[in-house]
Parts: sequence; C-alpha cells; structure tokens
Amino acid sequence: MKEGWEAVIGLEVHAQLNTDSKIFCACSTSFGEEPNQNTCPVCLGLPGALPVLNRQAVNNAGKAALAINLKINPESIFSRKNYFYPDLPKGYQISQFDRPFSEHGQVEILTSERDEGGRPVDWQLRRFGITRAHIEEDAGKSVHDIGDPTKSHVNLNRAGTPLLEIVSEPDFRTSWEAYDYVTFLRRTLQYIDVCDGNMEEGNLRCDANVSVRPAGREKFGTRAEIKNLNSLRFLQKAIDYEIDRQIALIEAGGEVVQETRLWNEKENKTYTMRSKEDAHDYRYFPEPDLPPLEVSQAWMEQLRAELPELPEARRQRFIRQYELSPDEAFTLTGQRELADYFEEAATTAGNPRAAANWVLSELLRELKNASIDITRSKISAGSLGSLIKLIDDQTISGKIAKDVFVDMFATGKAPEEIVKEKGLVQITDTSAIEKVVDEVIGANPKQFEQYRSGKTALLGFFVGQVIKATGGKANPQAVNEILKSRLDA
Ligand SMILES: [Zn+2]
Repeated sequence: MKEGWEAVIGLEVHAQLNTDSKIFCACSTSFGEEPNQNTCPVCLGLPGALPVLNRQAVNNAGKAALAINLKINPESIFSRKNYFYPDLPKGYQISQFDRPFSEHGQVEILTSERDEGGRPVDWQLRRFGITRAHIEEDAGKSVHDIGDPTKSHVNLNRAGTPLLEIVSEPDFRTSWEAYDYVTFLRRTLQYIDVCDGNMEEGNLRCDANVSVRPAGREKFGTRAEIKNLNSLRFLQKAIDYEIDRQIALIEAGGEVVQETRLWNEKENKTYTMRSKEDAHDYRYFPEPDLPPLEVSQAWMEQLRAELPELPEARRQRFIRQYELSPDEAFTLTGQRELADYFEEAATTAGNPRAAANWVLSELLRELKNASIDITRSKISAGSLGSLIKLIDDQTISGKIAKDVFVDMFATGKAPEEIVKEKGLVQITDTSAIEKVVDEVIGANPKQFEQYRSGKTALLGFFVGQVIKATGGKANPQAVNEILKSRLDA
C-alpha cells in the first residue's frame, strides 16, 4: 500500500447452508437440475403461498454461528427486504434486519502478508470482529444468453435456498488479511459440514467493502462495495486494485463515491455496477407470514457440544504441540481426516516431526498422483507410524524406507511384512560392514591412492560403493565411520 495511507475493509460472506430442501418450502436444493425444476408456489412467490421455516437450516446456522463465536439471540425476526430484480419472484427477499439470528463474535486467526511469489512472509495472530450472522433466502439466477444479447433467462432453482450472511467488522487493513479470513471461514464451515464452500459453484460468495483514509485518521473514507467475488484470489486482487484506485483518485483531487462495483477478472479491474443502496432504500419490515424465530438454549448448547475441534484452533495447537510451521499446520488441518491421520501417525511413531514430513511430502504426493484423498489411502496412519519407528530404531535406512513406502501405498501391506519379505533389514553388524568396506577398497585401488594423497572428497564415492554393494541396506552412519577409520589408517 502507498505510504501514508490506510485501507479499511469489511467483508460480507454469503454461505449456502447444506440442507436437502429449501428454507421455506419442500423443494430440493440439488445442484445442476433442469432450469426451474426445483420450484413450487412458495419459492415462485405465487399469491397465497405461505413459507414454513426449515429446521435443518436453523440447526446449521446455529453450528456456524457458534463456530465463529457469535452470540445467538433467543428470539430473532425475519424481515422483508424489498427490491425488484427479475430473479426475485416475490419482489422481496426474506432476510433478517434489526433483530438478527446472531451477533457480537470475534475470531483469532493467523494471517500473513505475501511476497512477490505469493508465499507467506510473517504469520501473526490477529483478532477480527464479526458483527452478525443472519439467516436469509437466496434469489434465483439470471442467465444471459451469450448467443443473443437481447435475451436473458431466469432460473429459479436457487430461489429460496438457505443462506447465512456473515458480516464482519471493518477490521481488515490489507487484502491478505481479508484473504486469510475468508479462507478461515470457508474451512471452518466445511469442517462442520454446514456449507460446501465451493466458491465457483457459488455456495460461498463474498462482497468486500473497501475505503481508504490517510494513515492515523480515525474517520472512515467513503466506501465502495465490490460484489460477488467468487474466488479467494479474485477477492484479494480486487481489494488491492480498489485500494490503489481510491488512493489515486483522491490524490488527483477526486472523490470516492458510494457505489457497488464488480470485478472483471480478465482486465483485473473493478468497474461501476450501480450506485450503492442504503438500508432505508429496502423498506425493511417484519415478515408477517413468519412468527419470530425462537431457539432454545438447550438446543444451541447441544450444537455447541457437538462441535469438533475447529481447523484454525487445531492448526494453532499443531504449531504449539508438534512444533510445526504455520504453513505445515495449515496443510495438515485442511481436511479433518488428514489432520486425524497425521495425529495418529505421530502418536504411533512417537515422532511428530517425522510423521509431518512423511505426510506432507511422500503421502500427499502419492495421493495426488493417484488422484485420491486421504480417506482412500491404503496406508493406514498406524502403518505409517510403524514405518517411521522402523527407521528410528535403525531396522531400515531412510532410503530403503522410501521404497517400502511406495510398496505400502500400492499394496496396503504392513511395513514389517514388506521388510521381512524382501529382506530389507538394515545391516548394522560392524563386522559385516567391515568386510564389505575392505572389498570395496580392494576393488578401487586408484581411488584409494587418490584419497591417501589428499583427495578426501572421495569419501562420498566409497560410501556410495559400500551402500550399493549391500543393496542399500548398510547403515550409512556405520559405513561412514568404518570407512573413515580404514581409509585414514
Ligand atoms: Zn419451492
């Protein structure tokens, strides 16, 4: 960011809640049906049709709100948000306004700026406020005909899908903080299975409110809202673009206007969509067809008790408990099953460092090559732990272990079984190694002479020869020691 300026960023995230049916009717929420198949009088907004709230949607909203430390209001009110849009058949959206489902949350997450190559440079724990999370229905979708620009179509399959809108405080100062926060939200919601978090399919969408002010000034500048950012990368780039645009505008004597802008991913620019509405433009009023939403404390306490350890908390624990780097812990907690797997392997092996290395390099690579995820790995966490133990107690060398691993991945056999079958037990017996060392020296008189006349770098050559002669089974440390004593004798 340009010297002397500060950005103020607030984020609104719309998360589609996983439910079988829509929020106020029994229509399916399945994705990819024929247009307008999943509709009924309620979600088409036909006169006389009445909404009935879906309990599962409230359940998921409760889990999500608790996971990000929001306080759930025992009573909240649904309101009509009035606006006209072709994909909104009722002419209003049922949302929540002055008495939302949940409020007053905050989260503590690791965030870092990135270098030119997009690599994190300095992870820091930072706290961000969450103003509220309320329940609402989604609108349908306008589909613009690419072949004929005079035509647009409306698909109402999505109309009435349950959403949780999570509104943050304007607590973010850089685009990467925003990126890390939305990443955190997405992972958290996926972990507790309340939202698929697929931004491309639109079941997690993000709007960013961006303004700038001279550094040190308290008063906020005028903000622009960038709507419908459907990838984390676009979110980050759009915010950076918008910050630069506003600073340049003000420095040139211009003024930022309050408006809604869209990100154009091809041109890497934001552009004006419409002037921004204020809340009073929507003429909110309480939804007369729905009673106040009352949730019992017992229900919410039960949800709280069912919450697993969440990914960000688990990541921070991995860093403390296993001394992993923030990046390593991030990857290992990316999927619940992967984090479970790592912990079990680490415990079995009694060596978390080695377990992390094996999972992060060998295992993830093999899984990727095989295009499967951890749940389908033939190597159990216990087996990987046993393999690490075999290295640590010097039964096999690290080099042999990599071959054993490949075999385990293909066959699912236990490492002990493979080691036994193939006779891979490491040779640590000194006299056996001494014998091979003498043979190797005897077979390479020229190199031996050169070594003796000062070319000690040839040690590596001899080590390699001895290891090779034992089929990789000689303990490298023992080989080194014995060779040295023989060569230097
Ligand atoms: Zn319906």
